[in-house]
Parts: sequence; structure tokens; C-alpha cells
Amino acid sequence: MATRPIHTFEVARTEQLTPHLIRVVLGDAGSGTGFDTFTPNSYTDAYVKLVFVADGVDVAALPQPLTLDSFKTLPAEQQPAVRTYTVRRADTERREVTIDFVVHGDHGVAGPWAVAATPGQPAYLMGPSGAYAPDAAADWHLFAGDESAVPAIGAALEALPDNAIGKAFIEVGGPEDEIELTAPPGVEVNWIYRGGRADLVPESQAGDQAPLIAAVKETPWLPGQVQVFIHGEAQAVMHNLRPYIRKERGVDAKWASSISGYWRRGRTEETFRQWKAELAKAEAGASA
Ligand SMILES: Cc1cc2nc3c(=O)[nH]c(=O)nc-3n(C[C@H](O)[C@H](O)[C@H](O)COP(=O)(O)OP(=O)(O)OC[C@H]3O[C@@H](n4cnc5c(N)ncnc54)[C@H](O)[C@@H]3O)c2cc1C
Repeated sequence: MATRPIHTFEVARTEQLTPHLIRVVLGDAGSGTGFDTFTPNSYTDAYVKLVFVADGVDVAALPQPLTLDSFKTLPAEQQPAVRTYTVRRADTERREVTIDFVVHGDHGVAGPWAVAATPGQPAYLMGPSGAYAPDAAADWHLFAGDESAVPAIGAALEALPDNAIGKAFIEVGGPEDEIELTAPPGVEVNWIYRGGRADLVPESQAGDQAPLIAAVKETPWLPGQVQVFIHGEAQAVMHNLRPYIRKERGVDAKWASSISGYWRRGRTEETFRQWKAELAKAEAGASA
């Protein structure tokens, strides 16, 4: 992975979508060359790895073409931070990549970067990767997630044919966090309120108690084959919604392949990767 090219973009503009969601549009009209090497894919959950370069690092002086290996000889405190984000839209004509960032206060790297982003500022990214797109063979679609999955759910809803049937459940802080999503008339979009920012609400409204879990479990199941797409806070998704979908509802892997945590309360992306590795090991042990 370390040899993947890092595409160089710059911030074209930003837009505050809600109090807790900020849109950053990256382009390459100035000194960037991003779209020369960036190739959009057809997954609705297409995602990139944003590379945040430490202050004081002269990117132009690093070995080119730029990859993570280019940073190898720098000291530990100058190593870049890598964060994963959905491509909300890739516009090949305008040579722009749109990313919607959850605003979650001063902690972290990517969230605060997006809040402070100004036009002309460089932005580095790898990818895109992706794995999911709505399957026309499904009889209905179930989407669930929190703010971090709004971009991926929004892109999937837009990609559905006009006659698609489905339900989407999106957990946000409150009514002020809702955004307009384009969905076919047969797909109902339900906004669930947790009553505050996902990292600040007490355990009684998060993790195993996230209101998204009850919303999904209580909804009547529609007839026929479902295709499931669920992402968001990892405890809620991996320890609650995934077992519900796979075991209680008996949806097989082919139709429920896109269920995973996008982030974990109290963990940075680096320590969340460790959490995921431990879960995978425990699951492999349980099924051995
Ligand atoms: C495939 C994929 C696609 C994703 N797409 C998006 C996307 O389009 N938009 C998006 O905003 N996120 C998305 N995420 C989630 C994002 O990668 C994480 O939220 C990431 O941790 C943010 O990095 P950070 O530097 O802001 O915070 P970190 O440094 O990773 O974490 C710092 C602190 O912030 C908390 N935190 C992290 N994320 C959130 C959050 N969403 N809400 C509240 N607290 C949080 C952490 O628990 C930690 O305590 C995606 C993740 C994956 C795996």
C-alpha cells in the first residue's frame, strides 16, 4: 500500500452543510495535479486516504513521485497522519473531488483540518478504493449509519433507479443536522436524533445504546431479498447491527457485505485500526 501514488490537490472551496458537517471541495486548478493521476471508480462508497503532512515538511523536497515511502526518512514527529474519507462526488469535468467531513471539535486531525481549510491550501490523498454499489437484483435496500456515513448513503441513494424500494436510517445529533438527500420515492429516509454530538453524548445514547440500533431493529422487514449497507460508530455497528442483520435476520454475506465501523468513540483512526484487528482475531478464533 505504501507505494500507492499520493495525488496532490488543493482546497477549492468549503461549505458548512450543517453545524456538524462541512463540505470541502478539492480541485487542481492551481498548482495541484491531482486529477492527472486520480481515477474515479464506480462504487458509491468510494473512499480515499487523506494524507496530512506535518508542519514544516517541504513536500516538494521529498522523493517524487510522492508516496508514503517518500516520508520514510523523516523523524517520527514529522510522519504524516492518514485518515479515511468517502468521495461524496468526483467531477471529472471540473476536476474536483468533494468530501464531507464530520465536525467533531478540536480533537483529531481531519475534522479540525476541514474546519480550518482555506482555498489554495494543499491536500494530499491516495485512492480511491471502494466495494459497494446498490445491486439492481435486490428487492429492497436497507441503509443505516451516522453522520460519518451520510456521504456514502447519500451517494448510494442518488444512484438508485427511480423504482427502487428501501429504507434509510440516519442517526445525527438533532434536526439541525439533517440535510437534503435525493432518493427515489419508494425509499423512505428516516432521521434519528441522539441528542448531541456522537463523541459527547453519554453512553446511554451511544455505542450499545445508540438510538440507530433500536430504529433499525424496530422497523418492519420488507418482502424479498434485501441488500444492506450499514456504517458508522463501530460499537453500534459491529457489536449490535451486524449480528442483528447477519444472525437474527439471516442475511447472507453476499447481501450484507458492506457493514462496518467507520470510527470508534474514544479512539483515533490509528487506535481504531488496532480495535478492528483485535475484533477480527477474536471472530476468527470463535469460528475456528
Ligand atoms: C471507508 C470509510 C469512509 C469514511 N467516510 C467518512 C466521511 O465521508 N466523512 C467523515 O466525517 N468520516 C468518514 N469516515 C470516518 C473517519 O475516517 C473517522 O471519523 C476519523 O477517525 C476522523 O479522523 P480525525 O482525524 O478527525 O479524528 P481522529 O484523530 O481519528 O480521532 C480523534 C477523536 O475524534 C473522535 N472522532 C472521530 N470521528 C468522529 C466522528 N465522526 N464523530 C465524533 N467523534 C469522532 C475519535 O473517537 C477520537 O476520540 C470514514 C471512515 C471509513 C473507514
